[in-house]
Amino acid sequence: MAEIVLSGVDKVYSGGVKAVDNLNLEIKDGEFMVLVGPSGCGKSTALRMIAGLEEITAGTLTIGGKVVNDLPPKSRDIAMVFQNYALYPHMTVEQNLAFGLKLRKTPKAEIERRVKEAAAMLGLEPYLKRKPAALSGGQRQRVAMGRAIVREPQAFLMDEPLSNLDAKLRVQMRASLHQLHERLGVTTVYVTHDQVEAMTLGDRVAVLKDGKLQQVDTPKNLFDHP
Ligand code: ADP
Ligand code: ADP
Repeated sequence: MAEIVLSGVDKVYSGGVKAVDNLNLEIKDGEFMVLVGPSGCGKSTALRMIAGLEEITAGTLTIGGKVVNDLPPKSRDIAMVFQNYALYPHMTVEQNLAFGLKLRKTPKAEIERRVKEAAAMLGLEPYLKRKPAALSGGQRQRVAMGRAIVREPQAFLMDEPLSNLDAKLRVQMRASLHQLHERLGVTTVYVTHDQVEAMTLGDRVAVLKDGKLQQVDTPKNLFDHP
């Protein structure tokens, strides 16, 4: 688990677009922080900088007290969940869950323990031998989350992980995510353009507009004093 701190962070893309403008944000250890705002406000860019998938133009980013500006994604001990699942179609659910750990040369018994635990937590036990094509959207999204969970990272980063699901499933998955966070208590940064999702999931919500932080507060305070 880890605190994530952005201090005066800017992102200017090569074309000259300033996607993130002087972002100051402290995400506490174990906190569920939601970044919300309209399309193009810089949410994904901010998340991708935390992940190390995008270079920081100016400012400082620390994870667990360590400056990570120049650290590659692999050295950041964080796991990212995407909206398009990014599952391997030729592998079973079990193999998908284990794959990242195998790459990292995690001992076999440890891989088995973690896969079993994640599958139980996500209700995926009945589907371990299936391939992604034989799963529902909700099941696939849970496999994608399972792949992040088995890493036992310091932080989870999620970019609109529920946006490909239908409305009913989205509500279910929100509840599951909330439970999961209560259980694991891992620092989470969650990007969405959906205000309801932001208010339901966030311990705090950071509202972005044109690359700038407008407000950051608990859902209750934002709702009472918008
Ligand atoms: P959001 O996630 O809130 O929709 P983004 O972070 O994706 O916003 O984008 C913020 C701004 O940066 C937008 O103006 C977008 O067009 C621009 N942008 C995003 N990615 C790139 C890129 N790779 N190159 C140039 N501009 C980009
Ligand atoms: P569908 O997409 O076909 O509606 P789901 O993927 O939502 O199916 O769910 C498949 C089964 O898994 C259901 O029995 C559902 O109750 C159960 N389930 C859904 N989410 C969870 C969860 N987070 N933990 C445990 N079981 C779940």
